[in-house]
Amino acid sequence: MEYTTDFLVIGSGIAGLSFAIKAADLGSVAIVTKKEKSDSNTNLAQGGIAAVFDKNDRFEFHINDTLVCGVGLCKEEVVRFVIMDGPERIKELMQWGVEFTKAKNANTSTYDLGREGGHSMRRVLHSRDLTGQEIERALHEKASLKRNIKIYENHIGIDLIMESTMIRRKNGFGDKCIGAYILDTERNEIHTFRSKFTILATGGTGKVYLITTNPDIATGDGIAMAYRAGALIANMEFIQFHPTCLYHPEAKSYLISEAVRGEGGILKLKNGSTFMGKYHPMKSLAPRDIVAKAIDTELKKSGDEYVLLDITHKDRDFLVNRFPNIYRRCLEFGIDITKDAIPVVPAAHYQCGGVSVDHFGETNIENLYACGEVSCTGLHGANRLASNSLLEAIVFAHRSFVKISEIFHLTQDEPLTIPAWDPRGATESDESIVVAHNWDEIRRFMWNYVGIVRSNKRLERAYRRIDLIGREIDEYYRNFIITRDLIELRNIATVAKLIIQCALMRKESRGLHYNIDYPEKDDRIWLKDTVISRDLPLSMETSC
Ligand SMILES: Cc1cc2nc3c(=O)[nH]c(=O)nc-3n(C[C@H](O)[C@H](O)[C@H](O)COP(=O)(O)OP(=O)(O)OC[C@H]3O[C@@H](n4cnc5c(N)ncnc54)[C@H](O)[C@@H]3O)c2cc1C
Repeated sequence: MEYTTDFLVIGSGIAGLSFAIKAADLGSVAIVTKKEKSDSNTNLAQGGIAAVFDKNDRFEFHINDTLVCGVGLCKEEVVRFVIMDGPERIKELMQWGVEFTKAKNANTSTYDLGREGGHSMRRVLHSRDLTGQEIERALHEKASLKRNIKIYENHIGIDLIMESTMIRRKNGFGDKCIGAYILDTERNEIHTFRSKFTILATGGTGKVYLITTNPDIATGDGIAMAYRAGALIANMEFIQFHPTCLYHPEAKSYLISEAVRGEGGILKLKNGSTFMGKYHPMKSLAPRDIVAKAIDTELKKSGDEYVLLDITHKDRDFLVNRFPNIYRRCLEFGIDITKDAIPVVPAAHYQCGGVSVDHFGETNIENLYACGEVSCTGLHGANRLASNSLLEAIVFAHRSFVKISEIFHLTQDEPLTIPAWDPRGATESDESIVVAHNWDEIRRFMWNYVGIVRSNKRLERAYRRIDLIGREIDEYYRNFIITRDLIELRNIATVAKLIIQCALMRKESRGLHYNIDYPEKDDRIWLKDTVISRDLPLSMETSC
């Protein structure tokens, strides 16, 4: 089947939905989302969204905290406009029905502002510890009121459709996106979605790693699709490992929010001794990369499986009220956070790199935009400041909308005939074990060789592995009928390779990228992004 729409939005997290709600005033919007409409990283966000809402806070303070955290790689003009536009966009979320927790005593702010690692002030708006769920609820409600929006659940994007695959470009340069091939996973049918503008809002890449806080959808599909289409991809080596994921054999990737440390939680070894003082003056409230690396070092030293996060010194009622979800969830595993320290380990959490975009979310491919975690905007640099990502998503969704609304009336319907998806004689696979095995192997070696602490040897070993597995997957992909598992496997293999390539390129340690062979940061050579593209020879793969 072929569908025609003005806007094809791939992903229904905060980035996709907030763009769609605005774009629906211009034209028709098809949102495709690969599982249920709320399966997203957004839905799991606990801590909240950072912005200047306190009388004593200043834009300059938030800007400075973000720049310090990004270790020289943030684009300052991007940091400035994201932070200064933040309060306006958050007020818009409130108008759309998002309810943030109010302060009990509204001295300096109407809202109860949380404090998180790396922030010099309290500035994190939250809905108790279920901020993401509250945002998704309100955005879905708002979107459901727009007649121009149609949501296709259980539809997974396979590949972008490029004009160049149908006609040779006049000047031989540049390309245009005219839609995407999408698999309906319930009916097992591949549809053509033809669109004037395509917005990638597919979220992060956590599932490339064995231990992650991310849900199953986070397989980096948007980055892999964009790369295959010829988009520039940047800074993939900067993976943020969240320091505190609950350690329990039955808990699947459950995050203990940074806000627990923000409210006074102290990291301790199993024997009860504190250790963060050795690593940073802010101790347990140090930025995430420093905390994650410190825990990794301590675990390797002691041989323990986990460290402890202790907030038992706080009042019981405060804890139950401030962290109702964490309290309930931990209790299910026999941990009462008001009495017991919480066992935690670091886990892959956030992808700072992604599809390279300009100040308006536009990629180097005409009519292809990217916003949210899938994109690399220049806000985070070498490390993301906590709670800046929901903020980035709404600001860039808005800016993409502003840019597109200026050119929308000039954009013609695409006259080309797009061929239906060609399965090229593919047959049903009788060896699903190949998918399962490769999936597991990639995630395991990414964790072991391309994790918090890297070395040249480990990265080279990982590169050799991914090169081999990638070829095997490509062959499998060509011969067998496409399923969701196969699409995702192909994408995590592509994303893993991009992460390894960027990590090999950066011959220094900075922010989230730590290589024991180059333990220092090198501003002379490396004050620049790592940029990869399908069309660039390796020697040209870095740029400022
Ligand atoms: C546990 C956890 C807690 C967090 N807490 C915070 C926090 O407190 N504050 C903060 O700022 N950030 C937080 N983050 C990060 C933040 O939640 C994400 O960066 C942000 O929500 C990303 O939004 P998004 O719209 O870009 O992507 P997502 O919300 O992940 O949405 C991606 C969407 O794309 C869809 N999709 C993916 N691939 C395809 C495909 N091939 N075809 C169709 N659909 C596809 C998915 O199904 C999903 O609907 C947290 C993340 C996690 C995992």
